[in-house]
Amino acid sequence: MTTLDVKPLADRIRAYNPSLDVGFLTRAFDFARDAHDGQTRASGAPYFTHPIAVAHILADMHVDSSTIVTALLHDVVEDTEATIEMVSDAFGADIARLVDGVTKLTRIEMQSDNKQAENFRKLVLAMSEDIRVLLVKLADRTHNMRTIDFIGRADKRERIAKETLSIFVPLAERVGMTRFQHELEDRAFAVLHPDMRESILTRLHNLSSQSEDAISHICSELNGILWQEGMDAGVSGRLKSAYSIWRKMQKKKVEMEELSDIMAFRVIVPTYEECYRTLGILHQKFPMVMGRFKDYISTPKQNHYQSIHTCIIGPNKKRIEVQIRTPEMHEVSERGVAAHWNYKSKGSDKAADSGRQYNWLNDLVQVLDNAETAEEFLEHTEMEMYTGEVFCFTPKGDLIVLPKGATAVDFAYAIHSKIGETCTGIKINGKRRQLATVLNNGDQVAVITAPDAMPHPEWENFVVTGRAKSSLRRFMRLEQQKQFIQLGQGLLRKAFRQAGKKPSPKKVQSCLQHFGLQGVDDLHAQIGENLISPEDVLRVLYPDLDLPKITAEGGGKSGGKAKKPSLNIKGLKPGMAVHHGRCCHPLPGERIVGIITTGKGITVHRVDCNNIEKFSAMPELWVDIEWQDKTTTLVNAQIEITLTNKAGSLASMTRAISDDGGNITNIQLTARAPDFFTFMTDIEVSDARHLQLIMVELRSNPFVESVERAKS
Ligand code: MN
Repeated sequence: MTTLDVKPLADRIRAYNPSLDVGFLTRAFDFARDAHDGQTRASGAPYFTHPIAVAHILADMHVDSSTIVTALLHDVVEDTEATIEMVSDAFGADIARLVDGVTKLTRIEMQSDNKQAENFRKLVLAMSEDIRVLLVKLADRTHNMRTIDFIGRADKRERIAKETLSIFVPLAERVGMTRFQHELEDRAFAVLHPDMRESILTRLHNLSSQSEDAISHICSELNGILWQEGMDAGVSGRLKSAYSIWRKMQKKKVEMEELSDIMAFRVIVPTYEECYRTLGILHQKFPMVMGRFKDYISTPKQNHYQSIHTCIIGPNKKRIEVQIRTPEMHEVSERGVAAHWNYKSKGSDKAADSGRQYNWLNDLVQVLDNAETAEEFLEHTEMEMYTGEVFCFTPKGDLIVLPKGATAVDFAYAIHSKIGETCTGIKINGKRRQLATVLNNGDQVAVITAPDAMPHPEWENFVVTGRAKSSLRRFMRLEQQKQFIQLGQGLLRKAFRQAGKKPSPKKVQSCLQHFGLQGVDDLHAQIGENLISPEDVLRVLYPDLDLPKITAEGGGKSGGKAKKPSLNIKGLKPGMAVHHGRCCHPLPGERIVGIITTGKGITVHRVDCNNIEKFSAMPELWVDIEWQDKTTTLVNAQIEITLTNKAGSLASMTRAISDDGGNITNIQLTARAPDFFTFMTDIEVSDARHLQLIMVELRSNPFVESVERAKS
C-alpha cells in the first residue's frame, strides 16, 4: 500500500458505499498528498502513506466518507503549512470541524505523560464531540502502533505503548470497537512485555497442539450437535489473545499452567430466538461452569454489545468459553458505533453520502450538539461525556481539571494559591484574554503574575471553584486585618499627639495585658476596627490624664461595638457627614472604605477606586466602614458597555437591562469605531449583586462585546 494513488481506497469504499463521491475523495487525497510532499515517516516511507493507511483502516470499518476524508487530512494542520481555514475553504465547515477535532487531540497526546490516564480518557471523550473524531484518532493510533518498531528510541516506544493501553484501549472498548481494542492491546503488549508475550504464545501453541482437542475438532463437534437439532449455525474457535491471558494471570495471580480456559468459541445463528435455543442445547449436552453465564442480549453492554456468554466443560473435558449471537450482533461487536452506519445501496441521492445518513450515529451527534438533552444522552448510552468538567493545560502540558464554567482566575488558583493571588493577566492559547474568561476543553492557559500584585475583590463575583473562593476570602480577610492595623496605628498615634505624649512601642506594649491581647498588632487592629478606642488606651497608660469624654462611645474595658448610625453604613462615628464618591459609585454589598475629607466629613469609595490611592500614605484619614445588611433604596451604578455596531444591538442591550429590573437613568456615547461603539450607562440598582446579575446577563448578549464597571 505504498502507492500514492487514490484508486485502491476509492474501490474499497465503493464496495460498501456505492454512492461515494469519488471527485471529493480525490480532491482530499491530492490536497493531503501535496501538503505532506517531501515529508517522511520514521520508516523512511513518504509521510502520506500514513494518512492513506489510516483511511484504509477506517474503510475496513465501513465508515462514512466524511470520516475517510478526515482521515486523509488528519495531520495536515498539525504537520504541514496547511491551515484549518484552507481545509474549510476546500472541503467545507463539517470536514474542517472534524479535522480540527483530531488536530486538537493530537496536540494533547503530545503533552500527555500518562500520569493522569483517567483524566486524559475523559478529555479525549469530551473533546470528541463528534464520535467520528474519536474513530479517526483510534485508527491513527492503530497505524502508529503497527509501525512502532520504526521508532528508534525504546523509551519513546514504551511511552506510546503505555498511553495506548491506558487511554486508547479503554476508549475503543467504550465505543465498542473491539477490533481496534484487541489489536491495540496486543501491539502495546508486544512493546511493553515482549518476552512474556512470546512465552504465552508458545505455551498456547503447545497446549492446543499437544492435546488432541485442536480447535477445529471442537468446532466440528459443536457444529454437528447443533445440526442434529436442526440449527444452521456457524461455529468458529480461536485461542484467546496473549494479552487477555496475561491479564487473567495477573488478576487471579495464577501461573500459565493453571489456566484451563484458553480457547474461545463463537456460535452465530440467524435469529435472536435461536441464540437462546443454542444456549439450551449446549447446557443440556455439556456441564456448564457456574457463575460464568452472561446474557448481554436481554441486557446489552453500554456500548450496545449484544451476545450470550457461557462457559462449559467441552468435548475435550476442558473449560471452553462460548459466545452466542446473531450476525447483526456480531457486526456491532466488531465495528462498534461504525456498525450503525447504513448505506443506501441504490439510488443516486447525493445527500446520501453527506455523512449524516446513518441513523443511530446521527441521533448521537444531534444529542451531543444539544446541551439540554445531554443528561438524557448520558442516561441512554452511558457513554460518559463528562459534561461537568473542563480540561485545560499549563504551558508545560500539565493537565488541570476544573468544573465547567471555571474561569482563568480559577485556573491560576488551581495551580497554586500564590499564583492566583499575584495573577495580573492571562493568555489563552497564546492570546491575551480577560481574567474572567470562561475556559474551554483543551485550552492552554498561561498565567502572568507580578510579585507585588494583589487579588481583586471583584473576582469573587466570577470565580467558581471552592479553592479560588476560599483563597480569595482568606486573602481579603488578611488584607482587611492589615488595613485595620494600619488604621488603628494611625488613630493611636494621632491620639498620643493630641494628648501631648510621645508614642513609644514599649509604652504601648505595657497595656496589652490590660486588654487581654497578644501583640501590638492585635491592639492596632482592635482600634482600627473600633472595638477599642485610642482614648481607652491612653487612659490605661496615663490614668491621671484628663481626656475629653466625647469619643468614648466605644468605652469599657475591652470596648464594644460601635453604635449604628442611622445611615445604611456600619462603622461610622455618630454625627459624621457622609457622601458617596461620584468617581466609583459604590453599591450596597460592595467593599467600601471611608476617607475623611476636610470640611466634608467622610466620602465613601469602593475599595478598588482609583481615586483613593493618593490617600494611601495617610492612614489616619481612612475609616473602615461597611454596608448594613439590608437597604431598600435604589443606588446609581455606572457601567461601560461596548456593543457591536449592528441593527438592534442598542435595543437588545436596554431590554436586557430592564428585563433584569435595572432602571437606566442616563446613556452617553463615549467612543465610536466602525464596528463597535461604547456607552457610559447609568443604571439604578438595588445593590452590587443586582448589578452583577445585569452585567452577567449583558455579557451573554450576542451584541455585547464587553461590560465593565466605571472606575473613575
Ligand atoms: Mn497521524
